[in-house]
Amino acid sequence: MHYENVVDLKVTQVDQSRIDQVDFDNLMFGKTCSDHMMICDYEDGEWKTPEIIPYGPMLMEPSAKVFHYGQAVFEGMKSYKDGDGKVWLFRPQQNFERINTSAKRMAIPEFPKEYFFSALEKLLNLDYEWIKPGIGNSLYLRPFVIATENGVSASPSNKYRFMIITAPAKAYYEGSVKVIFAEEYSRSADGGVGFAKAAGNYGAQFYPTNLAKAEGFDQIIWTDADTHEYLEEAGTMNIFFRIGDSLVTAPTNDRILDGVTRKSIIALAEEKGIDVQVRRVSVKEIKDAARAGELKEIFGAGTAAVVVPVSAFRHGGEDFELPQLENSYAKQLKANLLDIQYNRAEDPFGWRY
Ligand code: PMP
Repeated sequence: MHYENVVDLKVTQVDQSRIDQVDFDNLMFGKTCSDHMMICDYEDGEWKTPEIIPYGPMLMEPSAKVFHYGQAVFEGMKSYKDGDGKVWLFRPQQNFERINTSAKRMAIPEFPKEYFFSALEKLLNLDYEWIKPGIGNSLYLRPFVIATENGVSASPSNKYRFMIITAPAKAYYEGSVKVIFAEEYSRSADGGVGFAKAAGNYGAQFYPTNLAKAEGFDQIIWTDADTHEYLEEAGTMNIFFRIGDSLVTAPTNDRILDGVTRKSIIALAEEKGIDVQVRRVSVKEIKDAARAGELKEIFGAGTAAVVVPVSAFRHGGEDFELPQLENSYAKQLKANLLDIQYNRAEDPFGWRY
């Protein structure tokens, strides 16, 4: 798949690349940004032509609305380099549509498709050397929009800035994670912004996640805000349960992010003939299945981490361990997904760009 309507953007290149100062073997996720970024302002009711400029700090007034009301949305996607040096994106159309879905919910004007794809292509061409080949290596792309109008009145901004920054990344979580099923705090509520990648959704998770960490856990699996009886998703991943040989995941709704990895895993699993059930999953069902020896796997799925097995979970003061399976669904589906992302296998779904 390829987007045809690429437009010419104004480009100011760096005088000197910073790439020689980067230790690609010891990258902290998202810490080091590549040489260039895209910047595009919205003013007088329209998005101006985007520019590509050197990555660096920018000036904003302290009264800018984003600092006060969190009117901000973002995306997370990756570019991959194959053995021949070709660079691929994975289902970028999905991220484009989702940032505009998120924007709409936050009263932010939608961004034009030709600008989004033109900026991605230009950035990846300019910072080609920052994309390292090899499974697990990628250049993470962070498109985001912030409200830039000055003035602390609580009303939607008339000015916005859309930016794309990029950062080389290695696989995010290696190994497995231990999780707590949420019993007190909630991530989102009906009618809220859970389905949007709104900045505040993430900030609001830090405190409860810190509490979980203090108890020795890595992440929280969020439950529905009303009853805390149904399992929904993790902080930056959707979540799958293997009960017997069936793979179960919660349906998306206005509390859950419609993950690109999630829908890809569902398609890959169905293609393999796995019984996939998209339905509500209760805490009780999972605990009962674990006690009966029927719960084989839990894993998270998201762009940053790809697929991450859960090794243990806690709920209601009870601790459960998951078996380490030789031929887990998590392992198989992750391999299938990476093979498509890195152009090492056929792409029957037309996901590569
Ligand atoms: N849930 C949440 C809350 C997320 O932030 C993410 C990361 N975007 C995901 C799930 C996974 O989505 P994706 O597979 O599109 O990265």
